[in-house]
Amino acid sequence: MVQVVPASFAAPVETRPLGDVLDRAVAQFGPRPAIDFLGRRWTYAELGGLVDRCARGLEDLGVGPGVRVGLCLPNTPYSVICFFAVLKLGGIVVNYNPLYVPRELEHQIADSGTRIMITLDVAQILPKVADLLKTTRLEAVVVCSMAAILPPIKSLLFRILKRKDLATPPAGDRRFVGFERLLANDGRYTPARIDPLTDIAVLQYTGGTTGVPKGAMLTHANLTANMEQIVRYLPDPHPGQERMLGVLPLFHVFAMGVVMNVGVALGAELILLPRFELKQVVKTIAKRRPTLFPGVPTIFTAINNLASKQKLDLSSLRFCISGGAPLPVEVRHRFEELTGCALVEGYGLTEASPVVTCNPVTGGARDGSIGVPAAGTTIELRSLEDGHIVTEIGEKGELCVRGPQVMTGYWSRPEETAKTFVDGALRTGDVGYRDADGYYYIVDRLKDLIICSGFNVYPRVIEEALYQHPAVAEVTVIGVPDAYRGQAPKAFVRCLADKTVTPEELMTFLTGYISKIEMPKAIEIRDELPKTMIGKLSKKELVADELAKAASG
Ligand code: AMP
Repeated sequence: MVQVVPASFAAPVETRPLGDVLDRAVAQFGPRPAIDFLGRRWTYAELGGLVDRCARGLEDLGVGPGVRVGLCLPNTPYSVICFFAVLKLGGIVVNYNPLYVPRELEHQIADSGTRIMITLDVAQILPKVADLLKTTRLEAVVVCSMAAILPPIKSLLFRILKRKDLATPPAGDRRFVGFERLLANDGRYTPARIDPLTDIAVLQYTGGTTGVPKGAMLTHANLTANMEQIVRYLPDPHPGQERMLGVLPLFHVFAMGVVMNVGVALGAELILLPRFELKQVVKTIAKRRPTLFPGVPTIFTAINNLASKQKLDLSSLRFCISGGAPLPVEVRHRFEELTGCALVEGYGLTEASPVVTCNPVTGGARDGSIGVPAAGTTIELRSLEDGHIVTEIGEKGELCVRGPQVMTGYWSRPEETAKTFVDGALRTGDVGYRDADGYYYIVDRLKDLIICSGFNVYPRVIEEALYQHPAVAEVTVIGVPDAYRGQAPKAFVRCLADKTVTPEELMTFLTGYISKIEMPKAIEIRDELPKTMIGKLSKKELVADELAKAASG
């Protein structure tokens, strides 16, 4: 057996309140840059000051221990400021995807008991969030200004040219609080006494293995442990010197952990981009010269496509980390060949804060492998037939994880929680095996989850939306291979006997129910849908048909 695990993995993983990690970075790296947003920069000292004032403003709004505060923001400095401010007060961050449609936001608000939502004043988001004050028990909305956070020239241009993309809250409604007003204080807040092992820092919504979105309770200890576990994979971190490219959304667990928490732990400069736009990413790498770049496989595929057409300057990157979905071996090879930069694959899930395994960065990465378990982490492979622990090399089983990063359970769902643990180990719903050197490989997913550009798309959400259409009798949604997104949903529909509907009409109908990322790539109308022996709709025949079609070109 070769030695693949760094020696540092043997030391126990420390856990502490996440706010302390920021305080330490502020104390250690005060004058060094903390955030770059489209060319405007803040130092760690400035970030620390903003977090304290934001905390005091939120405290005045009633935020304190256990209060759930929603962040419904694309990547901006507000995401980082508000995240740490809520945590310092002992509040709980609930991350929201700002592209969710109202029904999805409503579900999450009701389920988590979110009281205050922090959002951005753009037309795509603010009116939708404002309406939630009517349909949910949300009490207040903090409105952050996009123009106020841009560099002066960009801000001016944005105010003039993008006027129609901006939105303002209704005048005179005291439930809306401007971020600037929130900051109008001396920054003296009441710091919470946090027990890292039991106090929840973040409710991170995920379908888990059953598909119904529910909040994974991630404690302060879960998040600081995972942060330290990730840092230990880095062969030669340079605290205060690294620059981390943050193009993945910080409301997703991957970027929250790997970009923001690890970035702050390293005293790195977080180079934030509000969304993935290939040309801007490549330009930003050449200009801002990040050293670390976490991404999902589709991002690296897109870079490969561009790099094969034009010369890219990616020379600042020490290495890139791919996670969230399987990284095709050819994509990794091609990326390393074209850019000269190492691309390592890691694996994780929301319930593990998120990282469970990663390939060693220098010299130990194996083709198709998700790498070796993080420090203090053990993986059991459990037989899919009877749940016993399989021990043979190469034998397949469901990956079940133990470690300090594993969530305490799902918010208000004891039954779902009980189903997700087996003898105290987290069931991942992923099937894999181990090689003789302790590297793990994922072969399949138990869950029906579709991973579309690194985002989880739940077939059931699309199925339920289609069932709302008056002509639809039965629906099955599966994931089909997609050259750009990795996977994309495809819906199969049987109409009621006396009704007809076209795929185009159904697509138009769906736009009011689901977000863009969930839109099916295709809808096929069939006379019959496959069923199991007891009459349940079955997916496997459809999946096989689609794979055969893809293979035959
Ligand atoms: P999420 O909870 O959104 O982070 O999604 C977690 C799921 O993504 C895992 O349970 C896996 O099914 C999948 N996943 C994440 N990383 C990888 C990887 N490197 N290879 C294969 N599947 C992955």
